[in-house]
Amino acid sequence: MSLSPSPFQKHCLNGTTFYIKRDDLLDPNFSGNKARKFYHFLVHDFPHITRVISYGSNQSNAMYSLSVLAQMKGWEFLYYCDHIPKTLKENPSGNYKYALQNNMKIMESIHKYDDSLKQMDSVSLHVEEGGRQKEAEEGIRLLADELLFDIAHVGIEQPYIFLPSGTGTTALFLQKHLPYPVFTCSCVGDSVYLQKQFEMLAEGHFPTILTSEKKYHYGKLYVELYVLWETLRREMGIEFDLVYDPVGWKVLLEHLQYLRGTPIYIHQGGLLGNVSMEERYKRKITIINGQ
Ligand SMILES: *Cc1c(COP(=O)(O)O)cnc(C)c1O
Repeated sequence: MSLSPSPFQKHCLNGTTFYIKRDDLLDPNFSGNKARKFYHFLVHDFPHITRVISYGSNQSNAMYSLSVLAQMKGWEFLYYCDHIPKTLKENPSGNYKYALQNNMKIMESIHKYDDSLKQMDSVSLHVEEGGRQKEAEEGIRLLADELLFDIAHVGIEQPYIFLPSGTGTTALFLQKHLPYPVFTCSCVGDSVYLQKQFEMLAEGHFPTILTSEKKYHYGKLYVELYVLWETLRREMGIEFDLVYDPVGWKVLLEHLQYLRGTPIYIHQGGLLGNVSMEERYKRKITIINGQ
């Protein structure tokens, strides 16, 4: 099992050229940066492992990708999360729905997760929330190699990379394996939080963290970000993720005039999660318009 290189495309926005690395198109079922992060588990043999255990939010992209991985490997998949709203249980949607279809066993208790870790046995593979772990390096290194090829192939003179971060794992390992500047922004906590995440995973040369003028809280709705997301879809014909990418693009566009060279934006997938985000946005916008 392996992954074919993802497409590398040239697009234009407000007269500026952007190259987009389409990791959302990596594979129909196993795509985005979670596919890169779990690549190690995909391509190596783990003869003693019969199940994978992880935890996190009930609409996590990592959760869905792990459910795909578990199916491909013939493993059981146990996933712990804090709370599953009644409405989601009654009407499963997005990542939650498709992970259940892939036989995810969901456990609604974080305490039980701690207990299960205490009894970790030799047949269980444990994956950190969001795939924040050293094993992610192997797949992200492959992404870096693809980018080196893409950059040389197109002949980009002074490239730099931009991608929005959650745990920062993808940005960190990209910077480690690329001789070009990698810029990122924190979508989950502040820059201090992201810097700490980098330090927990590795040492050395870290990506450069950029900040926006306004603070955006993780998973919250901002009409201006939705408008930006729609503009990107209209102008480039690309659907980006609604949690990380609108913040990422906002930050990149705010800094564009100060960054030298040609921007390459990494599309990290996550489109299954858009269903529930779009529903939330539509409801919010209806209320604002007083309809
Ligand atoms: C998980 C995810 C991220 C964050 O990746 P990190 O490696 O945790 O920084 C960004 N965008 C999308 C679409 C994701 O699914």
